[in-house]
Amino acid sequence: MVRLLRELIALPSVNPAFLPADDPLAGEHRVADYVASLGAKAGLSVDFQEVTPNRRNVLLRLTPQGRIRHRILLAPHLDTVGSVDGSLEIFKPTLANGRVWGRGACDTKGCVAAMLTAMFDVAAASSRPAQTEIVFAGLIDEENQQLGSRALSRTRLKADLGIVGEPTRLEVVTAHKGDVWARIETRGKAAHGARPDLGINAVRAMARVVELIEGDYAAELARRPLHPLLGGPTINVGMIRGGSQPNIVPDRCVIEIDRRTVPGETAAGTKREIESFLRKHGVKSTLVDMKGVIAPPLETDPNLPWVQNFLTATGRRETQGVTYFCDAAVLALGGIPCVVFGPGDIAQAHTAREWISVASLERGTALLKRFLERLP
Ligand SMILES: [Zn+2]
Repeated sequence: MVRLLRELIALPSVNPAFLPADDPLAGEHRVADYVASLGAKAGLSVDFQEVTPNRRNVLLRLTPQGRIRHRILLAPHLDTVGSVDGSLEIFKPTLANGRVWGRGACDTKGCVAAMLTAMFDVAAASSRPAQTEIVFAGLIDEENQQLGSRALSRTRLKADLGIVGEPTRLEVVTAHKGDVWARIETRGKAAHGARPDLGINAVRAMARVVELIEGDYAAELARRPLHPLLGGPTINVGMIRGGSQPNIVPDRCVIEIDRRTVPGETAAGTKREIESFLRKHGVKSTLVDMKGVIAPPLETDPNLPWVQNFLTATGRRETQGVTYFCDAAVLALGGIPCVVFGPGDIAQAHTAREWISVASLERGTALLKRFLERLP
């Protein structure tokens, strides 16, 4: 399984959104094709789902002995972020000090390796599930717009439980936050810098917007009741741009904000809330969505029997929440109850020296195998 992970890391699959077109490191196709060839060798049925040109989800199915009465979906993503410092070293897997190093080791090729190994072991054993189909879906584009999970959702695939692979330190996660990215713009009137009285300063108007958002609005969010697993909603002003040079009164200023949502909040409701907050304070501004796709929070009922089965198999008492967004909410929106689970720690994801511990990989594989073996 360590060897499999090293092979997966050696096949770069950087999300194309982070690289120039035709960059040799970009795209999930090398990993998707490799996973397909392993699946065929293990005797599973293999399918691709073309999502955009040359970007495909790969689907492996282990069909039960009898009629399909249940279905379990294993859904890690195949894409990674790029190199942080431009060095290509990170695409060369290494094994040292009980850790596998390389881009994707923890986010989330470690999960891919653990899930595939567990599934192949169950396929090779004489006792494959009697009534449960196991579907592995290697998804594209989680790191950007989640095109892979959105496309899979559109196929209306039904499953009793989806296990989305992300580094959760082998905790079973049933809740994560959603996010809304928006651009807010203030308009003014340009004038000569020597006659500011003839213009209207858009940067000054924005200064007030920033102060209101980071001040009163953030404070109001902090006073809201906390979600038991996620805490409260938050907001961050992440970017500001306005004006062009010192001697011109700026006629336009833009900020970009990241508002993290909790279960019960919608993207549309959140946008309306910010707009009406600013209007109430007499600010004239416009707010537009930046993402083009919705990224809702995840909240799966921990008491669902399949979630309880998974908790038992993994030896956990309680489910957890995480702050980062992932494919789980997208698949859940499509009707598949989802948990997030995998070896590794999100603290090592997206870092310049990404790694995962071999112990965590082995433990994760064993827990997944235990769950799959017990399926009806
Ligand atoms: Zn991930």
